[in-house]
Amino acid sequence: MLNIILFGPPGSGKGTQAVKIAEEFNLLHISTGDLLRNEVKTLTPLGVEAKKFMDKGELVPDEVMIGMISNNIDEYAGKVKGIIFDGFPRTIPQAEALDKLLEFKQTSITKVIALEVDEEEIVERILLRGKSSGRSDDNDEATIRRRFNVYQRETSPVANHYQQQDKFISVKGIGEIEEIFEQLKSAIEVLV
Ligand code: AMP
Repeated sequence: MLNIILFGPPGSGKGTQAVKIAEEFNLLHISTGDLLRNEVKTLTPLGVEAKKFMDKGELVPDEVMIGMISNNIDEYAGKVKGIIFDGFPRTIPQAEALDKLLEFKQTSITKVIALEVDEEEIVERILLRGKSSGRSDDNDEATIRRRFNVYQRETSPVANHYQQQDKFISVKGIGEIEEIFEQLKSAIEVLV
């Protein structure tokens, strides 16, 4: 399997690029943000609980996220060509759990590709997205900055975790969508 983690801060373009990559390489796209928003929309107990964290720009607890990913991997591993993870893992315990879950399915992460975008660009982009996304966490600058701080504190160590496995690369996440996609495509083509 070709298993890619698309990494980077909120608003770095992971969702947009993951959809294009999934289509290009015929991969299953797993976005934990989308999965959670679906739970929120359908008012499941998990969704009601998760919403409290999402609205504040905080991370949903690891146990919840790991359970959610575990169900997906159980269902799809071996049946798809590969997976593109978007928004997961976001903490070291999530990364360790993901490595174990994949190992159990006799596969592993092939590469982690980070989109590099600075904080001011992030805030500007998410506020713009908020005008049409309908996401409450996209409309308040303080919440956006909290999400960026949470990323720096809890998520950026995940980069080191995969650097130690020699699986981490990054590309510049500023520019035209197609231009960034071409760079991601070249980085992935050599892995196929
Ligand atoms: P996203 O759409 O990826 O920006 O995610 C939106 C929100 O969902 C985040 O701000 C978190 O509250 C929550 N979330 C998504 N993925 C995760 C994850 N892997 N771990 C914890 N919380 C998550």
